[in-house]
Amino acid sequence: MAGKQYDLIVIGAGPAGYVAALRAAQLGLSTACIDRWRDPAGKPAPGGTCLNVGCIPSKALLESSELYEHAAEKLKHHGVNCRSVDLDLKAMMTRKEQVVSTLTQGVAGLFKASGVDWLQGNGRLLAGHEVEFTPHDGKPQTLAAKHVILAPGSVPVEVGFAPFDGEHVVDSSGALAFDAVPKRLGIIGAGVIGLELGSVWRRLGAKVVLLEAQENFLAMADAQVARDALKVFTQQGLDIRLGARVTETKVHDGTVKVGYQDASGKHSVSFDRLVVAVGRVPATDGLIADEVEMVRDERGAIHVDEFCQTSVPGVYAIGDAVRGPMLAHKGSEEGIMVAERIAGHAATLDYELIPNVVYTLPEIAWVGRTEEQLKAAGTPYRSGVFPFAASGRARAMEATTGMVKILAHAETDRILGMHVIGAHASELIAEGVVAMNFGASSEDIALTTFAHPTLSEAVREAALDVLGRPLHIARRRR
Ligand code: FAD
Ligand code: AMP
Repeated sequence: MAGKQYDLIVIGAGPAGYVAALRAAQLGLSTACIDRWRDPAGKPAPGGTCLNVGCIPSKALLESSELYEHAAEKLKHHGVNCRSVDLDLKAMMTRKEQVVSTLTQGVAGLFKASGVDWLQGNGRLLAGHEVEFTPHDGKPQTLAAKHVILAPGSVPVEVGFAPFDGEHVVDSSGALAFDAVPKRLGIIGAGVIGLELGSVWRRLGAKVVLLEAQENFLAMADAQVARDALKVFTQQGLDIRLGARVTETKVHDGTVKVGYQDASGKHSVSFDRLVVAVGRVPATDGLIADEVEMVRDERGAIHVDEFCQTSVPGVYAIGDAVRGPMLAHKGSEEGIMVAERIAGHAATLDYELIPNVVYTLPEIAWVGRTEEQLKAAGTPYRSGVFPFAASGRARAMEATTGMVKILAHAETDRILGMHVIGAHASELIAEGVVAMNFGASSEDIALTTFAHPTLSEAVREAALDVLGRPLHIARRRR
């Protein structure tokens, strides 16, 4: 017999699950959110991977390490002389932990204020919309709901040739909590996570080597942007080896020896620490009772339709556990959509307009189509580019690396993609997302007044360049 009855039970309080629960409560649904995450001190900490060991701690360390590098190397160019700049890694990590706990406890506060029952422990989907809830220190109990949302998130991939030992070979969580700067840091995988973590530790003094199996750097980004990024990261001192497939690792005497293969043959390289950042897999083990017939793919991802409905009526799945990019805001938007649909609204989500960001310096951000995708689809397009080197604000900020690129349909002028590499690209991309959400043309942006001097002016200039008439860069008339 089931205990308490809810309109909605959400399993998982990451950015997908907790946002779904908050929106559902706002819409008047009686809602519970089950989550098992506990911080290193054992305290329940909602917010999932994103708040605890993902987006937030990585951005905290990226910020701190950028300030350190600025103080140590760049301030003198501004006429600011620091007599000595020392690294206090312990204090840096403590600040990161405070940022994380403020935000996780903030989610707990939001649950309380909005009337969501936050249930701390494990959840498991049973048949007939029932959920088994096992509190951290208690016995399993059965709850029932009219609707269930599964939002269990994902976990790092562990590969057989590089098992995690928590000290020398670690996942991204381990690399966010090193107690000392490794002299030689190896990273398997030059994806978004590998590049962000590599940037943090390079800035703090590590010699960083990234081993990437693919020949193409940042294959999902626009190729022009990826080319520029590879050049800048290499100049900064990141040793990025492409076409390098790692096949073996051995830990001996505190050193990790890594064997990899590239076009020229077999190689070996030694590190003090190795981060394995080769992707993440849905965390669906033990989530669904055997009696529930739920369709999953070979990676364990729960099969859903465009509205995140699973193969079991009334049960939805969102976030990293389903198809689509593993991004916090993608999961949150799915959570909002599902909560609203349960409440009878006709909510939808345009997956084409989900922005992507890499928080390196320069940052990289994009939304919509890349130039390569438009070419492959045979879509006629025009491209407009504006380099930050020609922006007054970027000059004043000493942030002249990078550009804004806008791709628009050659006939309708509708914006099909925007790509930014440069300072604050993560913020600038929002202009492209808003414009594209309103079906804007590059002319719409060109007709808009932007404050001067701002980095945003580069967005308008790129739009003007699509139209063949940029003002602050000399181009031959088209
Ligand atoms: P999660 O955040 O993984 O949350 C799932 C929650 O469910 C967890 O708390 C888990 O403990 C709980 N859970 C799972 N199963 C059960 C169960 N059976 N019972 C109870 N609880 C359960 N994305 C971005 O958009 N921007 C970034 O800058 C960014 N940076 C990242 C940096 C790093 C280092 C990493 C690792 C990831 C980063 N991501 C980033 C990805 C982002 O963290 C994920 O896309 C996001 O957290 C997915 O949200 P989710 O709610 O689906 O799952
Ligand atoms: P992402 O999927 O963005 O997290 O990036 C993971 C990266 O790891 C991808 O670019 C993969 O090509 C890369 N990768 C996976 N396996 C290996 C391997 N054995 N050696 C080197 N790189 C790998």
